[in-house]
Amino acid sequence: MRKIIFVTGNSHKVSEATRIMAPLGMEIEQNNCGYPELQEDTLEAIAGFGARWAANKLNCEVMVDDSGIFIDALSGFPGPYSAYVARTLGNERILKLLDGETNRCAYLKCVIGYCRPGYEPMVFGGKVAGVIAKDIRGNLGFGYDPIFEVSGVTFGEMADEEKNRISHRYRALVMFAKWLKEKNNINKIL
Ligand code: IMP
Repeated sequence: MRKIIFVTGNSHKVSEATRIMAPLGMEIEQNNCGYPELQEDTLEAIAGFGARWAANKLNCEVMVDDSGIFIDALSGFPGPYSAYVARTLGNERILKLLDGETNRCAYLKCVIGYCRPGYEPMVFGGKVAGVIAKDIRGNLGFGYDPIFEVSGVTFGEMADEEKNRISHRYRALVMFAKWLKEKNNINKIL
């Protein structure tokens, strides 16, 4: 198993990443040291900066995860401001904003940032398309899960295994794991 330090304070992200990465031969170890969260326009910029900052602080390779929800009818808002909006508005008031709205399309996006000390960061994105539910449903998962619906079921109603098979996080982590494996092979040859 290849071990990787996951810098995050979010235990839900850790447990999802642990389950997704184990079959890909990767072991996750959480580190809670935190990093400055830039208020930037893209998840990639936030994740790249965070990964570089944490790798240099801990002096080891690290991964971070920056995620958000992008709502069509709100021109992609809250996107990279999703954490702030979750804290200030929350799911109930987001549903109110969409009252009477027929276009309820949205997607969740996850960007994994990876960096080694002294190197440029790499970023890997994954998305899952869905709709904003009419009401809050389910108490599984976290964050926007109870209002994000795929094929009639919210992520808040889905068992972990189900969410982890289709989620934005799963898609980003698979890209990341593939790249790490390829990179390691190249390093061995060099
Ligand atoms: P951050 O990546 O921790 O900045 O998350 C931004 C916001 O999106 C927070 O409010 C999280 O709770 C929420 N969030 C992150 N990942 C997920 C997810 O997998 N499902 C639903 N909400 C999420």
